[in-house]
Amino acid sequence: SVERTDDGVSIRFSGADRSETTENFDYLLAATGRRPNVDSLDIQNADIAEDDHGSPLFDHYTLQCGDSHIFIAGDANNEVPLLHEAADEGRIAGDNAARYPDVRAGLRRVPLGIVFTDPQIATVGMTLSEVDERCKGRYAVGEVSFEGQGRSRVIGANKGLLHVYGERGSGLFLGAEMFGPAAEHIGHLLAWSLQKHMTVSEMLTMPFYHPVIEEGVRTALRDLNRKLDIGPQPIEHCLDCGPGG
Ligand SMILES: Cc1cc2nc3c(=O)[nH]c(=O)nc-3n(C[C@H](O)[C@H](O)[C@H](O)COP(=O)(O)OP(=O)(O)OC[C@H]3O[C@@H](n4cnc5c(N)ncnc54)[C@H](O)[C@@H]3O)c2cc1C
Repeated sequence: SVERTDDGVSIRFSGADRSETTENFDYLLAATGRRPNVDSLDIQNADIAEDDHGSPLFDHYTLQCGDSHIFIAGDANNEVPLLHEAADEGRIAGDNAARYPDVRAGLRRVPLGIVFTDPQIATVGMTLSEVDERCKGRYAVGEVSFEGQGRSRVIGANKGLLHVYGERGSGLFLGAEMFGPAAEHIGHLLAWSLQKHMTVSEMLTMPFYHPVIEEGVRTALRDLNRKLDIGPQPIEHCLDCGPGG
């Protein structure tokens, strides 16, 4: 159980050995997720396949459950519980339900997730483990720390790390994971590049103003290109990778 106290929260919990403990903390971060409210629909009677958790199996692009006339969108399908995804899915599922049985694949955007903590967290495209599974070792990871990044230092927000992933051979940008300054904006830039199927080299042809946090993104992309063995070897102390990067 959880109780608010004068200076924080008191949490009573049982350990692995079932012994009960009560401890006081300053704050509680509840990250337990949310269950879709589909239990009372008696889905098991609709003759559609379910996963291990009892959620209906469905097609990611059509939102159709098997071959049935049932379509499932938003948090109810338990896939990506985010507002912009729910809106897309609602449109696709509604369109398909109305045109059934002429079911069409809808546009799904590249994965983008943002956590509004301080510093913020952003994930774009594939995670490192997904990259590893898809590329079977044929990938590289570029990196930048925001500790020494020019603009981040000036505004006193120089905490964070950005990892960018690229595929060997094709040089395609695959995804990124970061925490740090302006992650909500950097996440968008990277997601838009990913959805346009850009290579890391193409991303590096884009303009980077000075002095901005995005110069840190360029440093990570350059590091990635070097590790992919694409593009020129970086110059150690070049003008535009000095103060900003
Ligand atoms: C605390 C919190 C913070 C969030 N922050 C973000 C964020 O920063 N960014 C982001 O992208 N997403 C965020 N989300 C997730 C986002 O709100 C959801 O992904 C989105 O609202 C899902 O839309 P939906 O239409 O599927 O479901 P909902 O918005 O939940 O709408 C479902 C509706 O159906 C109604 N309903 C349920 N059961 C029945 C029934 N049996 N009969 C009739 N009506 C019913 C509900 O009352 C509700 O009005 C957050 C969610 C929470 C809870």
